Amino acid sequence: RLKAFGKAGKGHAPVAHVHVVGAGVMGGDIAAWCALKGMTVTLQDQDRERIAAAQGRAYALFTRKLKDKRQARAASDRLIPDMQGHGIPHANVVIEAISENLQAKQGLYQAIEPQLRPDAILATNTSSLSLEELRTGLSRPERLVGIHFFNPVARMPLVEVVETAQTDPAAIRLAHAFVGQIGKLPLPVQSTPGFLVNAVLAPYMLEAMRCLDQGTRPETIDAAMTAFGMPMGPIELIDTVGLDIARDAGRQLTGNASMPNCLETRLSRGDLGRKTGRGFYVWK
Ligand code: NAD
Repeated sequence: RLKAFGKAGKGHAPVAHVHVVGAGVMGGDIAAWCALKGMTVTLQDQDRERIAAAQGRAYALFTRKLKDKRQARAASDRLIPDMQGHGIPHANVVIEAISENLQAKQGLYQAIEPQLRPDAILATNTSSLSLEELRTGLSRPERLVGIHFFNPVARMPLVEVVETAQTDPAAIRLAHAFVGQIGKLPLPVQSTPGFLVNAVLAPYMLEAMRCLDQGTRPETIDAAMTAFGMPMGPIELIDTVGLDIARDAGRQLTGNASMPNCLETRLSRGDLGRKTGRGFYVWK
């Protein structure tokens, strides 16, 4: 079912070691997925508890996907907690998945870059920051690429590989080969707001919420769009993505237009969707 979008990235030696910085929702699950696919993964975070939580989720993934207990244990052994970043000099691919903050990411890159293998790529999982801004201050800016996974990592086959005209073609090829190696579908995109998927999804979700503001029920909108052929309705999708994340994406892609009332009122109550147990629907 999955067809390559054009840059297969063949001809690379397989990626053996991935280092992931940021063990949150995304980084923890990216690390787990890479370990599941046979790579050695070092997982770094400034918060030890985030690493421990990621290891717990990873073990659940391994036992679900690998029926043999020994294989599940072997995958767990490949996922190595690494508070100090000892894995960086050994990694073919270093993935940054820390919080969405430009200065924090730039600061981290300053610390990582001198330790990188000469043939390694530095990849960011950013959803909204441009490669042009992020790579400021790097001595080899051409090897920063975007490798943008979607949430939940284990269920979403598509991964956007973000490049600019200045990105090293070898870095782009390695990024595509890596994404293919972990069984995902790499989509080449330019470093433009929302890349491709979020640029299309954000107006769709905003229009659905405007329908809510005009009095249509969430169940009706979701039933209509699933009957139309979408796997999940837009309101359920917003609850899944998180209302705060939907607002940030909406603002970013509309030049800070005001957001629908139904969204703002729920945000002011702290109702962020599935993750807090309540958004447009109740999830408990
Ligand atoms: P998160 O808040 O769940 O996790 C971020 C982690 O980074 C935390 O565990 C934090 O302790 C750690 N961290 C922060 N600064 C650090 C530093 N300097 N060194 C080491 N660790 C540090 O965030 P998330 O939702 O996983 O998002 C991470 C990145 O992925 C962001 O760039 C976000 O835009 C992007 N993204 C998020 C989603 C999503 O649905 N959440 C989807 C795609 C992409």
